Amino acid sequence: MCDWRYLRPNMEQNTEAKRTEIASLGEFGLIDRIAKTAKPRQPSTLKGIGDDAAVIDNGDGTATIVTTDMLLESIHFDLAYVPLRHLGYKAVAVNVSDIAAMNATPKQITIGLGLSNRFSVEAIDELYAGIAAACEAYNIDLIGGDTCASRAGLVISITAIGTAKTEDIVYRSGAKPGEVVCVSGDLGAAFLGLQILEREKQEYLVNPDMKPQLDEKDYVIGRQLRPEARMDIIYELKEFGVRPTAMIDVSDGLASELLHIAKASNVAIAVYEDTLPFDNQAAMVATEFGIVPATCILNGGEDYELLMTFTQADFEIIRKKTALITPIGITREAGEGNILMTKGGQSMPLTAQGWVAF
Ligand code: ADP
Ligand code: MG
Repeated sequence: MCDWRYLRPNMEQNTEAKRTEIASLGEFGLIDRIAKTAKPRQPSTLKGIGDDAAVIDNGDGTATIVTTDMLLESIHFDLAYVPLRHLGYKAVAVNVSDIAAMNATPKQITIGLGLSNRFSVEAIDELYAGIAAACEAYNIDLIGGDTCASRAGLVISITAIGTAKTEDIVYRSGAKPGEVVCVSGDLGAAFLGLQILEREKQEYLVNPDMKPQLDEKDYVIGRQLRPEARMDIIYELKEFGVRPTAMIDVSDGLASELLHIAKASNVAIAVYEDTLPFDNQAAMVATEFGIVPATCILNGGEDYELLMTFTQADFEIIRKKTALITPIGITREAGEGNILMTKGGQSMPLTAQGWVAF
């Protein structure tokens, strides 16, 4: 219940107060500012704001891992081309991906749903069929949530809860100079899938009788519509008996995530353009759109792969056992700078364009 009178003092104050645009801080600047107001006071809060998920000590050598990610209509998805079933699956997968990025096992989710009467019961059934499929795929339970009316389109906010042995948890901050920077799978395809879906939507708006031109685009479109959290990599690394020194999932584009690890670990990172994994179909689509592969990979986002650092010794074990993990660079002393070595042998400073959220 919101009583209007309670809002007035603040509004009056605000007419006098200095106004700073959120855009001047950006998403990460804003999160840093919020973090300053939320210094942990509970000894059980092992990690608060600042990693892929929070870590809470259970006091028995294990910890509970908690993360929240929201998907908003017309910001994160467009129902003109996103099937609700896929959307439900993706909303779960992107949260599980943050649990994976802590080297933890997902167990439960809760869902906050904002919706309008634009949606039928059948439409919500479709959304929850996708959510149920993801719960089955990741072996997790939907245990609760909240449902509200929304005037701002469909809102899906998911909180995922996982567990891990405290000593197994991998933070963004664990990398040391002289380690191998690796990534799972391939990058940049989800961004290209989005370009195709946007192009088809625009063409459909002009000519509703058109047939979509989606031949040989299945992989990149699938990467956009139905990403998977790489729990398979987490289980595989356990089997090999190796643990990344630092880890983050690639949700905002590789460049942004590299800089997060570099900053949190107080190291610098050099990556080599010719090693960055790019799918063949993605390469064809990139050519069609006239976009350079490095742009898709570094700034595209929504790949939900894992970016990891390993000691040289652990990397030697991985190299022999799996082709699912690709070395793309090295960590070095913080002062040496974060760089991309181009195919032409040029050293370019790494900058994150990524999402412009505001
Ligand atoms: P990710 O991309 O891995 O989901 P984010 O960049 O969204 O990570 O978030 C980084 C950190 O900031 C996380 O610890 C997250 O819980 C925290 N965070 C993000 N938004 C808020 C907020 N509005 N209030 C408090 N903490 C937040
Ligand atoms: Mg993350």
